[in-house]
Amino acid sequence: MMAADAGIGLRYPVPWDQVEKETLEHFQTIVRMDTSSPPGNETLVAEYLKQVLEREGISGRLLALDPKRANLVARIRGKGSKRPILVMGHTDVVGVQREKWSVDPFGAVRKDGYIWGRGTGDDKDNVTAGLMLLLLLKRQGVKLDREVIFLAEAGEEGYNREGLRYVIANHWDEIDAEFALAEGGGGIIKDGKVLYLSVATSEKVRIEVQLLARGTAGHGSIPRPDNAVVRLANAISRVAEWAQPMRLDETTRTYFQRLAGISPPEAAARYRAILTSNERAAAERYFAQHELRHNSMIRTSLSPNVLKAGFRANVIPSEAEALIDIRALPDEDLQKFVERLREVIEDSHIEIKVNSGRPAAQASSLNTEMFAALEAAQRRLYPESITIPILLPGATDMSPLRAKGIQAYGIGPVVDSDETGGAHSDDERILEKSLHDFVRFIWHAILEVAAAK
Ligand SMILES: [Zn+2]
Repeated sequence: MMAADAGIGLRYPVPWDQVEKETLEHFQTIVRMDTSSPPGNETLVAEYLKQVLEREGISGRLLALDPKRANLVARIRGKGSKRPILVMGHTDVVGVQREKWSVDPFGAVRKDGYIWGRGTGDDKDNVTAGLMLLLLLKRQGVKLDREVIFLAEAGEEGYNREGLRYVIANHWDEIDAEFALAEGGGGIIKDGKVLYLSVATSEKVRIEVQLLARGTAGHGSIPRPDNAVVRLANAISRVAEWAQPMRLDETTRTYFQRLAGISPPEAAARYRAILTSNERAAAERYFAQHELRHNSMIRTSLSPNVLKAGFRANVIPSEAEALIDIRALPDEDLQKFVERLREVIEDSHIEIKVNSGRPAAQASSLNTEMFAALEAAQRRLYPESITIPILLPGATDMSPLRAKGIQAYGIGPVVDSDETGGAHSDDERILEKSLHDFVRFIWHAILEVAAAK
């Protein structure tokens, strides 16, 4: 499909048929490199990208804490009258259970309009789009007000120390930017039509809480009042019953407003109700039962996921442990939250330990040149569709960028609404057309926000 090249795109016409062939070739090559983490071996991809870029006169640099897990950074220079933009993709993938796949997970097989393989939807699509963006900017000689930086990062799955954490701590000046684009958004196709494109502007903050109950060990034939298992079970049921108030922010308010505009009448009424204080209770109850993602988007959530206790039925154990996965809204005061958790558990014999991962960060604004450029790119590619900002319940590498002051936006290709073959699943795959549209989408958005007018 040829998108209509109007406005600034007119000055830089792209031979899309040729670009699609190249995109496919790079994408398949990268998917065929097994970068399952652990161990990662992302240097395979980083070196490939470096070599492709250098063939066209773009110098790339490997940034590595571990030589096998290198990050790659490259930059297209510009006038520098505005601050740079960072385009990011991660080169590591999660592992596979080969026997559950119908194709070779590292074969990048083309079948039924899709390209199949681990990483096709998470996140070698973003890596390939970033590569193609740099090649096109260079070839077309685009005059840039903002420099464009590409970072292919290692170790995103699990927020490893070799990846973005290392780059931020040791090479910040090489990626410092006003805006960033990364994974996290995307679009949904239903009945052959793109319903909407989502842009992730915010995400929840993950902390892991360990509960450690202690009691006295003994013989199971003589029950004790300080049984650690009972203590822990009581604590968990109190945690499960602890209601969290709903809160909306700019992202979620806009999300429900815009979603209401494209939803069937009953759902639309629910999304409007959640925005209206005297009608929201029924909608909240409905979310809690039937729209679990929405339920998580509007409140801090707690999910007890691991229990460890005991080793024999006739022995009272002296310890019992639970792990609770807490996903806080971005504005939650975590210290106060843990204090309240302690009050809810109300048991001095339970020790509470908190482990945090990525830093908490403010949501990115909907009122920026970057967000407007993403909306403009959506209108150009999918004029029948709309852009919807979303808050991600899961954590991404956008939050460490946001915590450093970058306005970061999660984007992605469109996927089928049937939800099979998505990120981390068996038979992960991407629609070929979506991959090519995604390259165009980034190209148009970057021209809009970074090219000299
Ligand atoms: Zn990912």
